[in-house]
Amino acid sequence: MNRNPRGPDDRRRNPLGNLQRPGCSIWQVVFWIALILLVAPLLAGLFGTSGVTIDYSTFKDEVRAGNVERVTVTGQQIDGTLSEPRETSAPGQEAAITYTDFTTYIPAFGDEDLLPLLEEQNVVVQSQPDTGFPWGTLLITAIPTLLMLGLGYLFLRRMSSGGEGVLSMRKSGAELYNRRQEQTTFEDVAGAHGAKGELREVVEFLKNPQRFQRLGGEMPKGLLLVGPPGTGKTLLARAVAGEASVPFFHITGSNFMEMFVGVGASRVRDLFKAAKEASPSIIFIDELDSVGRRRGAGLGGGHDEREQTLNQLLSELDGFKPSTDVIVMAATNRPDILDPALLRPGRFDRRVTVDLPSLRDRVDILHIHARGKPLSDEVDLERVARGTPGFSGADLENLLNEAALLAARRDVDAIERQDIESARDKVLMGLERENVVMTEEETSTLAYHEAGHALLAAILPHADPIHKVTIVPRGRAMGVTQQMPRQERYIYPREYMLDRLSVMMGGRAAENLVFDTPTSGAADDLKQATQMARTMVLQWGMSEQFGFISLGGDQQEVFLGEQIAQRREYSEQTAREADQEIKMILQEAYNNALNLLRENRKQLDDLADALQEFEEIPGERVAEIIGVQAKAIDPL
Ligand code: ADP
Ligand code: ZN
Ligand code: MG
Repeated sequence: MNRNPRGPDDRRRNPLGNLQRPGCSIWQVVFWIALILLVAPLLAGLFGTSGVTIDYSTFKDEVRAGNVERVTVTGQQIDGTLSEPRETSAPGQEAAITYTDFTTYIPAFGDEDLLPLLEEQNVVVQSQPDTGFPWGTLLITAIPTLLMLGLGYLFLRRMSSGGEGVLSMRKSGAELYNRRQEQTTFEDVAGAHGAKGELREVVEFLKNPQRFQRLGGEMPKGLLLVGPPGTGKTLLARAVAGEASVPFFHITGSNFMEMFVGVGASRVRDLFKAAKEASPSIIFIDELDSVGRRRGAGLGGGHDEREQTLNQLLSELDGFKPSTDVIVMAATNRPDILDPALLRPGRFDRRVTVDLPSLRDRVDILHIHARGKPLSDEVDLERVARGTPGFSGADLENLLNEAALLAARRDVDAIERQDIESARDKVLMGLERENVVMTEEETSTLAYHEAGHALLAAILPHADPIHKVTIVPRGRAMGVTQQMPRQERYIYPREYMLDRLSVMMGGRAAENLVFDTPTSGAADDLKQATQMARTMVLQWGMSEQFGFISLGGDQQEVFLGEQIAQRREYSEQTAREADQEIKMILQEAYNNALNLLRENRKQLDDLADALQEFEEIPGERVAEIIGVQAKAIDPL
């Protein structure tokens, strides 16, 4: 039930990939030279000989017969002209050719009799030095070399990331954007108001540095965009490139690292050098964490190449004269693993947080990505935004794309509400599982379980309104009661938490009430509820016994090498008491749920029946079935 909606973790994509400029490499030149070398001798062979090639003995016979007018001797080759035309009579050749011009070759062992014979027959003899280019020799030596070079090139290209060869001409691996190439503007970014404001200032500064410098103001040199994946950090950087009228160097952290040791550091050097030459300019390092990870951390020793690269980066950041108008921007979703040296004053000291979009921002983002997608009139993007708390901008874009695909599959003209609804379920919970065959008993248990959640969500005053209830199996979930926040919440009052816990317990309570036996279906509910109760007790000071003490360590992930195990800062005794307290909160929530279900047994049965019949019921209908007022949603 009520799963916290969140898109797939980290979808790395490179929206800039399609803007890569074609690198003209020396290898293209080599390729053409090779081609010419290969073809030239063939052409030379075609045009270099004149007439028909005949046997040497035939030639001599013709000389003896006095039928040869003139010959030109080039090395071993003899080209000549007959006085009377002859016909070829080679065996196996069907049509005979009549010829006067011919070519033949003196045998390698030489023919001392030839010259006297020619003189005797008064043949005009021309001789020219054998200046012919030794194509044959060249071919024999060149082909293997070229083959090896070619293979080596292909190999290197495959090894180096991003399709950009180690030997390519842009050594820094950075893409240079100019204004005309980049179409993105701040208009394309919804929400992220703080970040946009900060970045607008940067753009203003670069357009007109004097205005700021006149008052002694200095722009920060390093600006770090921090936020969860898919919140538009890369997009914002592209917007800066689109808005600023200065060169914009864009590189992804992992591009510094290549197969050769030392490449990373030299790339950093090249990048900063180029940016300084082009100043005023902007450098943008995306996914900074891939180079900027804390040094010396991680099990199994440091990564030398990465450390060298990072050191180079640090020294370049320090190396700016205050007068250089180069601004370094970077983006990361893991600021916690960055090397502290990167965050020191004078380096990336200005941190701009890009958060998950709020409800209002989600509406705006949906409007941006709905451009060019025909929506049917019944689609209410505000409602979609309400149903997608925790979605990032990228998730929302993905949602609309999925919906468009689904609509196309159904062959309708516009995206309808049901397409968006299915797309949302798919993004949230995974694909529908069609091969699940349940017994009648299982279906009934499932229906009561979800009906239990739904009934409580509908009648508990502080619980969030129901979006829909379904017993269609999807992904890992067999059924879901989806709620949507009545309003954007930033703080959670205790009553809200307690009602929420009761709703979570509603599934198990219904099972026990109706079938008198618990099932495994509540595993996820219990896990979430326990987690929540633990947070309430240990961190939020919401239990009577523990009062205001905060016992929980921060909930940050544990990174290898930094913290092998999470420390516990309280005694065994306290731990035991905390567990007791958590258990009590859960028990109370369960009792509350069970009592309410018992009191409303008829409504529970009705809801479960309806679920078995329709499999999926929208929130308003749930309220109708149990005869309560549907919960109002606070207006935007
Ligand atoms: P990040 O770099 O933070 O991981 P991206 O900038 O790559 O995220 O975002 C991926 C895509 O999601 C963007 O190309 C854009 O289409 C969409 N997106 C994300 N945030 C927003 C936003 N605030 N407004 C509009 N579109 C957004
Ligand atoms: Zn449940
Ligand atoms: Mg990004």
